[in-house]
Amino acid sequence: MEKECDECSEKLNDNAELAIHQREQHQKTYCGVCKTEFNNQKELTNHVKDAHGIIMSSNNIE
Ligand SMILES: [Zn+2]
Ligand SMILES: [Zn+2]
Repeated sequence: MEKECDECSEKLNDNAELAIHQREQHQKTYCGVCKTEFNNQKELTNHVKDAHGIIMSSNNIE
């Protein structure tokens, strides 16, 4: 049964995929340098690069 993410309306195949999606896409995270909060890892990665000049290694950054 298809599940829809209530935060971004993306469709996932089941609860397990929805949980993974929400953890990866919507988990709040913090900058370790200035404590700014971000909605996801990608925003944080972009922030630390632009604001602090730190390149965070990640396996799924576009
Ligand atoms: Zn979502
Ligand atoms: Zn910061």
